[in-house]
Amino acid sequence: MNKDTKICIIGGGPAGLSAGMYLEQKGYDNYTILERNDHVGGKCHSPHYNGRRYEMGAIMGVPSYYAVHDVEEFCGITHDGPKLNRNYKDKTGKVIEPFNPKKNVLKIPHLMEMRKQVKKLGEILETKYKGYDVNGHRGVAEGRYDGFAVTPGREPVSGTNANLKDLALPFKEFCELNGVELTQEIWIGPFTSFGYGYFDEIPAAYVLKYLDFQTCMNFVNINLWTWQNGTQFIWESLNDKLKNHARLNSNITNIERKDGKVYVTVNGEVEEYDKLIVTAPLQYFPDYADAREDEKEFFSKIEYERYDVLAVETKPEDHPDISYYVFDNMTPERLGHLMVYYRRWRDTKDQVITTYALRKHKDQAEIPYEVCKKTVLDDLKTMKNPASNVVNEQSWYYFPHVFTEDYAAGWYDKVEAMQGKYDTYYAGEIMSFGDMDETAEYSRELVERFF
Ligand SMILES: Cc1cc2nc3c(=O)[nH]c(=O)nc-3n(C[C@H](O)[C@H](O)[C@H](O)COP(=O)(O)OP(=O)(O)OC[C@H]3O[C@@H](n4cnc5c(N)ncnc54)[C@H](O)[C@@H]3O)c2cc1C
Repeated sequence: MNKDTKICIIGGGPAGLSAGMYLEQKGYDNYTILERNDHVGGKCHSPHYNGRRYEMGAIMGVPSYYAVHDVEEFCGITHDGPKLNRNYKDKTGKVIEPFNPKKNVLKIPHLMEMRKQVKKLGEILETKYKGYDVNGHRGVAEGRYDGFAVTPGREPVSGTNANLKDLALPFKEFCELNGVELTQEIWIGPFTSFGYGYFDEIPAAYVLKYLDFQTCMNFVNINLWTWQNGTQFIWESLNDKLKNHARLNSNITNIERKDGKVYVTVNGEVEEYDKLIVTAPLQYFPDYADAREDEKEFFSKIEYERYDVLAVETKPEDHPDISYYVFDNMTPERLGHLMVYYRRWRDTKDQVITTYALRKHKDQAEIPYEVCKKTVLDDLKTMKNPASNVVNEQSWYYFPHVFTEDYAAGWYDKVEAMQGKYDTYYAGEIMSFGDMDETAEYSRELVERFF
């Protein structure tokens, strides 16, 4: 492609900004990032409170966040945030140690079996499911893998492996098929409580591409990255460094693609581009663009999670000593309950804590926002860490995905086959997974493949 190609990128979150970085590194300087909000970062959102920043959105990374590390190097920043730690409570607020054999003597056989199954899952992922962890979903439904390896070199890898078709199954069924049901008790912590849905509904591909074996072990061992000024700072730093800063407050009302050009109406003015990269939610693309039938058909299949976050103040005597996970509340039966609450700053009690709850499951009615909020605040009382005041709240459009039927029917291969067809490329969370690194890595791959 000609290096002067005029490229419009929709969205100034991790996917859009990293697309800008990778384009720039490849010699494409003629790009424009259009961001609807008055700030960059998307779901990496770190507001200020009492002189520090807390997290309303993304919180942490792991050492295999290679694309995020690219961004850090590009900007000269590093993961310099507070060290994470956590404990566990049951739904009555009692502190528990579910994985400590000494505290659960009767559960020792169960814990030993779980350990065995975790080892087994690690082994079959490397053998039976070879290729499971490459970024993105190309070929999986057809029993292929094709993408970049999750290794420091991130070299391109591809091959056939018919077993990969199993990854379309909900993770629960995938585990049953492989006799590793108990591994769900480990994987659920950094999955369901992080808002990514329930194992009886979400295809194993999403679970295992995000929580590949090594990444899951990093969570277990709390080998995690955070940022002093919040995850938003990563993307603010990138935006500052890019030759073309994101244009904030961009209201796109129309997109027309004709005669090899892309016409974008932004804040009332029509702008002409050669190519379009969409990192904003694809299911809303038809609302403002001349979406073709195939785009409408596929994008209408996308589902997403309703993931609610509250930032609350507590009285100093009610402040939690540490962050807590509540496994009892990570089941569909306890939809709308508090699954985890996060104390980011351990050195002070004058900061907010943040709470996390889901209120949608495939087979259940959506819980109304206010009901969920009240439940979470009641749960905090049960946990003996009552809130005195809510200072911020957000219900996120979270983790866009497709369900098993569409995954198995080749949703990803069909959408991948549309890349470039209408001078348009699709990136952002749905194309890989809803975390900072997978989205940024997908942008890297998109630029490698098509530009
Ligand atoms: C509570 C929470 C906790 C999380 N925890 C973690 C974590 O610990 N680690 C991790 O790696 N990830 C975490 N994530 C996920 C991570 O934040 C997202 O996966 C990541 O931000 C996705 O990047 P994106 O660019 O694809 O989308 P987004 O971050 O959603 O960015 C999309 C951008 O597009 C803009 N936009 C949307 N529509 C339009 C439009 N029509 N025109 C112009 N602009 C538009 C939006 O304003 C936004 O800025 C968390 C997210 C949340 C909400």
